[in-house]
Amino acid sequence: MKTRWFAMSVVCLTAGLTAAQTFTVGTATAIPGQKAFGAIEVPAGRDAAASIPVAVFRGVKPGPMLALVAGSHGTEYASIIALEKLIQSLDPAQISGTVIILPLVNIPSFEQKVPHVNPVDGKSMNRFYPGNPAESQTERVSWQITKQVVERCDYLIDYHGGDLDESLRPYAYWPKTGDAKHDATTRDMVLAFGLDHIIVWSDRPKDPNASRYLDNTANTRGKPAIAVEAGYSGTATPEDVQLLVKGTLSVMRYLGMLPGAATPVEHPVWVGKIDTVESTQAGIFYPLVERGTYVAQGMKIGYVTDYFGQIVYEAKTPAAGVVLYICGVPSMKKGDTVANIGEIMPNP
Ligand SMILES: [Zn+2]
Repeated sequence: MKTRWFAMSVVCLTAGLTAAQTFTVGTATAIPGQKAFGAIEVPAGRDAAASIPVAVFRGVKPGPMLALVAGSHGTEYASIIALEKLIQSLDPAQISGTVIILPLVNIPSFEQKVPHVNPVDGKSMNRFYPGNPAESQTERVSWQITKQVVERCDYLIDYHGGDLDESLRPYAYWPKTGDAKHDATTRDMVLAFGLDHIIVWSDRPKDPNASRYLDNTANTRGKPAIAVEAGYSGTATPEDVQLLVKGTLSVMRYLGMLPGAATPVEHPVWVGKIDTVESTQAGIFYPLVERGTYVAQGMKIGYVTDYFGQIVYEAKTPAAGVVLYICGVPSMKKGDTVANIGEIMPNP
């Protein structure tokens, strides 16, 4: 009897410890020192089911829970490839805490090479958070990510870049919420990430039930989150991929999840306002400046012709600033974005 009782208690103790230290997202379950790959399965509703790949890295030492999410726009390739590189290179034996990686949220966009939206329902997969389990696929996926990833993580980074039609220079967003402690953490995170242009975003929704964006969904739930962008026009250059990989590792060091010190950017360019230049005409677009160019107010940055080569619209900058991105393809519809100009502000 005594022996049996002892054996049972050992079994219970082991089961209890494992249950406490096991961490599961979707079908991926990892114990300390393990990485696990699986999927967040999103059941069919009014449209098709979805299966979102997820990797879980459970460190051997305790620490925070960090979520890394890319590919809500499935043709922003540099961001997706960067998370693939991290999945291959991160070692749970080196990590304190847990890393959840979603490298490609929008597989239909990736497979079909459709920019901006999920072709299943025509919705942007970074505009419908926190999501809705009764709506179309984009909202059901967003709901699962909110429940399984955002609500359980401590920190989050959302990865983007110039889409197929956007020639973009790298930059990050610092979401300023007005909560001094929270903002100090996100400021440190965005500096640690190291991208040298930082957009101060202070008008994002405050209501967690109307958060729209992924990073905003985390921030409105008290989880410090930033968004980063690198890559452009269908490319995944080693330079852009490396910026995102290096930035992630530096944030992990800032959070104490990897040994060593973070390498924050020292003198970033702060952008306080974005001016979107939209074409008033449809036709063929010709750019006159490149991504990253510094422009004066009123400068001509491109023009649109009709299909006979006659100029029908001249795009001019409403203010001085830096070209964060400019349309990278000739296709132009009335109302499409020609360029986003970032107005420079002093160190906030
Ligand atoms: Zn994007």
